[in-house]
Amino acid sequence: MTPSAQATPEAQTPARGSDHALSVAIIGGGIAGVALGIGLANHDHLKVDLFESAERFGEVGAGVSFGPNAVRAVAGLGLEKEYLALADRTPEPWQDIWFDWRFADDGRHIASSVAAPTGQSSVHRAEFLELLAARLPAGTAHFSKRAKHVERHGMQSKVTFTDGTSHIADLIIVADGIKSALRPLVLQGRGKPAANPVFSGTRAYRGMVDTAALRAAFVSGSMDPRMVDVPQMFLAQNIHILTFPVRHGALINIVAFITRPEDRDWPADMPWVRETTKQEMLADFSCCGDAVRVILDSIERPTIWALHDIPEIEAYIDGNVALIGDAAHAMLPHQGAGAGQGLEDAYFFSELLGDPSLQASDVPRLLAAYENVRLPRACAVQRTSREAGDLYEFRSAEAGSDPAALKQLLETRFDWIWNHDLDSDVTAARQLLSDRKSVA
Ligand SMILES: Cc1cc2nc3c(=O)[nH]c(=O)nc-3n(C[C@H](O)[C@H](O)[C@H](O)COP(=O)(O)OP(=O)(O)OC[C@H]3O[C@@H](n4cnc5c(N)ncnc54)[C@H](O)[C@@H]3O)c2cc1C
Repeated sequence: MTPSAQATPEAQTPARGSDHALSVAIIGGGIAGVALGIGLANHDHLKVDLFESAERFGEVGAGVSFGPNAVRAVAGLGLEKEYLALADRTPEPWQDIWFDWRFADDGRHIASSVAAPTGQSSVHRAEFLELLAARLPAGTAHFSKRAKHVERHGMQSKVTFTDGTSHIADLIIVADGIKSALRPLVLQGRGKPAANPVFSGTRAYRGMVDTAALRAAFVSGSMDPRMVDVPQMFLAQNIHILTFPVRHGALINIVAFITRPEDRDWPADMPWVRETTKQEMLADFSCCGDAVRVILDSIERPTIWALHDIPEIEAYIDGNVALIGDAAHAMLPHQGAGAGQGLEDAYFFSELLGDPSLQASDVPRLLAAYENVRLPRACAVQRTSREAGDLYEFRSAEAGSDPAALKQLLETRFDWIWNHDLDSDVTAARQLLSDRKSVA
């Protein structure tokens, strides 16, 4: 990590003919932005700068789980060894299980979803971001740089920061999250409607607890310790609770969701995250049985999150500016897929921008190929993430609370996300690029 960039009035890209053929500015240093920075740093012809609004990289102290597609993207970025050393996996003989699904009232088993070959692959968020940040080449990251505006600057684009400085690059990739400051400008530039975050009606209580203590509580309550060792999802009307291990099984990450479908208003000035009490949390889940009660009782200081997503947007690019990660496709966490889509974006751009013959004049066509290939998939993951919440909480017309219908859907509904061939996206985009080149 490096200190903030000096507040030069305007940081110019290197002149043509220098070592770098193309300059790329990344806005936002969350999982998507930093992963992209690492992927692009593998290419000597790119000059990469990352601008983060905070004073340092930071993530919340919670778990994040990745499907096989996201793990493949991480591997494709050259991080497989470090990632596997950090990540948890469900212990044998359940190593391929993503989640066991159960009824929350009596713990009855409904189904198990299998996510071969990775199973439930999960990490501590802050530790994962630390791992990524450590791989970013020195001098790439600039802190306390909050982007507020982006505009055309000849063949390039210029991003302006709230401290009055600015930066010019051939390509600007915006990864500034669900509350993106630059998304409105991209959409406006393309004549598309604005897309603001929407409250889902769902609140999520979160906590991480000591695994040994939780196992002891299960054993003393004569409950099956498999519910501690294997990731679990407990389902009820308008409620679901999930658990999975992090930090090599030492901690269990817990998220307890409750939905009030009619309650869709979230005042603009109300924070999305706050601390809460165990009593408030337990009262919300009083309809649940012993296993859920013991799990939630183990959280001493829960936080509560108001879950928002954004509508599927119609454009991810404008000129030589592109949106990735939550800035483009923030989604509800019900398929554990949001960060994974950001990692897929990062892998895609790392591959596509790896061509050393690329010129600045190629950027608009390259971005058009990005939008063409990635937007439909990311929108489908957004849409099905919303639907997944309805399925888990018995609001779906297809299944309701019927165990046979739930089993059939829960065992198969994630395969298209997990089994996606990321390289087919890259190949399709390269094909589009060569088609457009030959037409031009
Ligand atoms: C409860 C919950 C559970 C989740 N669980 C999972 C899961 O298990 N698996 C999964 O794949 N996903 C999960 N997600 C989704 C996942 O957290 C997000 O998709 C992911 O973190 C988004 O990463 P990002 O880098 O796009 O955005 P962010 O993480 O929001 O990062 C944006 C970065 O940009 C910076 N920034 C903001 N504005 C500016 C600006 N104007 N200028 C410069 N910098 C700026 C911010 O400081 C931040 O560092 C979950 C989400 C929630 C809420």
